[in-house]
Amino acid sequence: MLPVAEARARILAGVQPVTAEQVALPAALDRILAEDVLARLTHPPMAVSAMDGWAVRTADLTVLPATLRRVGTAPAGHPFAGTVGPGEAVRIFTGAALPAGADTVVIQENCTDQGDRVLVREGSGPGRWVRPAGQDFTAGHVGLTAGTRIGVRDIALAAAMNVPWLMVRRRPRIAVLATGDELVMPGTAPAPGQIISSNSLALAALIHRLGGEPVDLGIAPDDAAALATHLDAARGCDLLVTSGGASVGDHDLVRTALQARGLHLAFWKIAMRPGKPLMFGHLGDMPVLGLPGNPVSSLVCALLFLRPLIQTLLGLPVTDRRIAAAAAVDLPANDAREDYLRATLAPGADGHLQARPIARQDSGMLTGLVRADGLIIRPPLAPALPAGGPVDVMPLDGI
Ligand code: AMP
Ligand code: MG
Repeated sequence: MLPVAEARARILAGVQPVTAEQVALPAALDRILAEDVLARLTHPPMAVSAMDGWAVRTADLTVLPATLRRVGTAPAGHPFAGTVGPGEAVRIFTGAALPAGADTVVIQENCTDQGDRVLVREGSGPGRWVRPAGQDFTAGHVGLTAGTRIGVRDIALAAAMNVPWLMVRRRPRIAVLATGDELVMPGTAPAPGQIISSNSLALAALIHRLGGEPVDLGIAPDDAAALATHLDAARGCDLLVTSGGASVGDHDLVRTALQARGLHLAFWKIAMRPGKPLMFGHLGDMPVLGLPGNPVSSLVCALLFLRPLIQTLLGLPVTDRRIAAAAAVDLPANDAREDYLRATLAPGADGHLQARPIARQDSGMLTGLVRADGLIIRPPLAPALPAGGPVDVMPLDGI
């Protein structure tokens, strides 16, 4: 049985990011930038006023109050064509180009508009209330960097940089195949002996959340030939994920069907709980990840192995967030399998975060997984840990 970290390293080895595609800015939210984005212009393009007021020369404000002659008006988008000379002022508004000759803006609150004249009561230093050209960025500035998950603020900056399209990573197409004679899709009335396939929807949702495009291959019966036919629909996908067909005795079914299609098997057992039967290999160039069928095992293994795979396909660094907590109860010594215990997290009496395993750790129980805030990680062969001892927790937020 392979240790978790080694299985992960082997799964990720050689995985290349998917190609990039161009999308219009409004469609780029949450996509992953494939290349740096450079400003196509300078902003502001020229010195502009930051306030409504009067564009004047500081040299005319040495004696206050000063009366200046109004020679024009400069609303935003309508630059004053002339030059502000000695003793002159231009009425100006926020965002308007600072007229030639003026070197400062006096805010309107400090002036009295007298029609063809303006009384300036308070001074203003050179450059005051003026946004110089390029204050935000200049043409060629690298505003956004490759690997960024594009958020609302990034869209604002790209737009301001006059970049109406972006090169983003294609959404990896990830085929999801559930296996099991007992499974029917949600919304169906199960016949005796049947249960609902929750894994299909959970995996699709996770793939979507992580930036992939789930491709539903449906439910294959426990029959090698039928399985192989279902697998054909994965052609052209970047990754195939199966669930189930993985308990002892069953296991050969998915493996046999895949091998009949030319699977190059890398490994199929890892030292973890929940989720010993995890299979990995390649069908041609396409990686294949065989997840266990039990719903909790399937999702925990997806977080540990599918999430980093998708991150790598998207050209993202693999994030593997762990938080430190104290065990809320005594934890027994662990065996050779790395344990992932569903646990709630809450501050203890001393204010430190405490992780409390939920009562039932059965890998078939989704209610416990939903109630949990994180997974306490118990390393292989960890000795017994008294309550209060340190544990690493893999948080379940964000999913
Ligand atoms: P298997 O690995 O196929 O033996 O499945 C292990 C357990 O997980 C069995 O109790 C299955 O009924 C259950 N199971 C398998 N696939 C799914 C699925 N897609 N959704 C929910 N439960 C499943
Ligand atoms: Mg099964």
